[in-house]
Amino acid sequence: MDIVTGNIGWIEVVCGPMFSGKSEELIRRLRRAKIARKRVQVFKPVLDDRYSADEIVSHSDCRMPSQVIKDAREVLTLLDWRTQVIGFDEANFLGPNLVEIAQQLADSGKQVLIAGLDTDYLGRPFPPMPELLSLAESITKTLAICMRCGNPAKHTQRLVESEELIVVGATGMYEARCRRCFEPGIPKQEYLEFAKPGRDRHSV
Ligand code: ADP
Ligand code: ZN
Repeated sequence: MDIVTGNIGWIEVVCGPMFSGKSEELIRRLRRAKIARKRVQVFKPVLDDRYSADEIVSHSDCRMPSQVIKDAREVLTLLDWRTQVIGFDEANFLGPNLVEIAQQLADSGKQVLIAGLDTDYLGRPFPPMPELLSLAESITKTLAICMRCGNPAKHTQRLVESEELIVVGATGMYEARCRRCFEPGIPKQEYLEFAKPGRDRHSV
């Protein structure tokens, strides 16, 4: 859902697992804002350098120019205060300060559009998304397709072993899974489709 009125600020959040279309949806909304001749700025975290340093890019190759930040607070120095619409992709990697910054921007009349993972690889709420959801005017939860059974998928399944909360996606590291097929932690080796020789690797 797009909020269509002008003038006042607000926060819109798009959340869900990897591959659920969060970046596509964020880009679609930002494009519409540009069509409405609004001034737009887009930010993404520095660690998401999978595809491009100065663009947000979806898995379906939608693209939009963006600025890279380490922490949400950097927006305050990078923001052109004439900007009316501010997009954040991969917001779950922007740290707890995003909550205060998003509120501050919305309170000062900006339209804040935020996309991010709502749960981590163990299925736990991924800060600061839960807090943003409770403060937002609009929330959209996107679902992917379960790579095991084809049902709607709300989980991001990690396919490689690591104790780290954040392993930035590269080839074959994650896939979408439904509630039934999700295995918190690492699935058993014999289930790892991507590890079978000769199989085309799924690009993340
Ligand atoms: P997100 O930002 O949520 O990771 P993207 O917007 O980058 O998602 O990519 C969504 C696109 O990914 C879909 O339109 C589709 O082309 C592709 N895709 C790949 N795997 C899946 C999957 N398991 N379920 C749904 N879409 C998938
Ligand atoms: Zn499933």
